[in-house]
Amino acid sequence: MIIIGGGSAGLMSAAVSSSLGAKVVLFDKNKFFGEKLKITGGGRCNITNAEFDVHKLLSNYGESSKFLYSPFAEFGVKDTFNFFENRGLKLKTEEKLRVFPISDKAHDVYEILFNELKKFSVKLKNNTEIKRIEIENNLIKNIQTVDEIWTADSYILATGGLSHPETGSTGDGFKWLKSFGHKVDTPTPSIVPLALDKVYEELQGESLTDVKLTFKIDGKKSFSKIGNLLFTHFGVSGPTIMNSSKKVGELLSEGSVTLHVDMFPGLDEKHFHFKLLQLFDKNQNKNIKNVLVEMMSQNMVDIILNKSGISPDTKVNIVTHDMRTKIILECKNFTHNIKSLMGFDKAVISDGGVSLGEIDMRTMQSKLIDNLFIVGDLLNVSRPSGGYSLQLCWTTGYVAGKNAFLKLKK
Ligand SMILES: Cc1cc2nc3c(=O)[nH]c(=O)nc-3n(C[C@H](O)[C@H](O)[C@H](O)COP(=O)(O)OP(=O)(O)OC[C@H]3O[C@@H](n4cnc5c(N)ncnc54)[C@H](O)[C@@H]3O)c2cc1C
Repeated sequence: MIIIGGGSAGLMSAAVSSSLGAKVVLFDKNKFFGEKLKITGGGRCNITNAEFDVHKLLSNYGESSKFLYSPFAEFGVKDTFNFFENRGLKLKTEEKLRVFPISDKAHDVYEILFNELKKFSVKLKNNTEIKRIEIENNLIKNIQTVDEIWTADSYILATGGLSHPETGSTGDGFKWLKSFGHKVDTPTPSIVPLALDKVYEELQGESLTDVKLTFKIDGKKSFSKIGNLLFTHFGVSGPTIMNSSKKVGELLSEGSVTLHVDMFPGLDEKHFHFKLLQLFDKNQNKNIKNVLVEMMSQNMVDIILNKSGISPDTKVNIVTHDMRTKIILECKNFTHNIKSLMGFDKAVISDGGVSLGEIDMRTMQSKLIDNLFIVGDLLNVSRPSGGYSLQLCWTTGYVAGKNAFLKLKK
């Protein structure tokens, strides 16, 4: 069996098929396998999502969910826990059911898989780029590197999508699959930060917690979310922004999109006035810039006062109702024009890929090329961040690894 691509999905396929007894050759063009896996979850690896109700879990995979029941019945979240914990990797569940290794090290996840490859004698062909896949009579005839031709009875394609191309996923699989006649939806960056027209340099690295983010198109409200916001050197990021990016991308194709940040969603205007009055009362002889820092960072205070047209050195005892109203307005409607989504280099995944209708989802076998199995980020499955992408890799990698082996035995 040949597996092309030693990322999360390819590693799982190789581990499973070799443990069942298959003779496996694993190719990767990188010097080391699993380069993307090692940077997942900021180096901590959000390995899965501890939602054990399969209906609830799959509702996160949008329109693809109806295709996923079968592979998830074969290898679901519980199986991911068992697979890694039985091999010595202890897991913990954090906020929003995100699961991480207790060690907080993505590298430990990689090692569990890599140890399996060594244990079951997978032939490792790192530093080996596949240049060409030859097809004959709807079957893969061989695969070719710069100077070698390899053949096998079955092939698993696990070359990933297009996000973070420096990790090796440069879209080769999409090109091949298209040339084989598969319908491949054009990949676009997904789960990606947003670039803003105007970047506040002084806010770079600052994050706001539990703020309300409202996206508007041509001035009309589209949708809102409560969450955290991170200001970066190009715009805004953080899980809530990244998980809104698909919808924002759609809005951007229809008109101009603005982001409105309510920094104090728990305070309506009346209570906000009351809170400011209380604060000013306690600090009557101070300058306003030194008092508002009790509610937000100094950089944010400077920006809000500037936008409100109030001098930072104004004594709080002369702040009028009008001035307070301006401050409140800016705090509850800090507006940004969205320029674009950031590119593949900043995306967690790429949307698009092979239509699931062209794959036998019980086995992950291509319906067009009989000896080909397709896994991981090559599949057209939209999903948010939260461990859902890696779970998809474990599930499809397992199912393909097992069924490619069973096909060999027939
Ligand atoms: C920064 C970042 C953080 C992430 N964090 C998380 C997270 O915490 N939780 C989560 O669920 N998901 C996360 N993801 C998404 C997750 O990492 C991916 O969905 C997953 O790794 C995809 O695995 P894959 O095996 O399909 O592809 P990849 O991991 O991209 O592997 C593809 C492999 O194929 C090789 N390859 C490509 N072309 C060729 C060729 N021609 N010849 C030989 N080899 C080739 C590449 O070198 C690469 O090693 C994150 C993604 C990024 C970018």
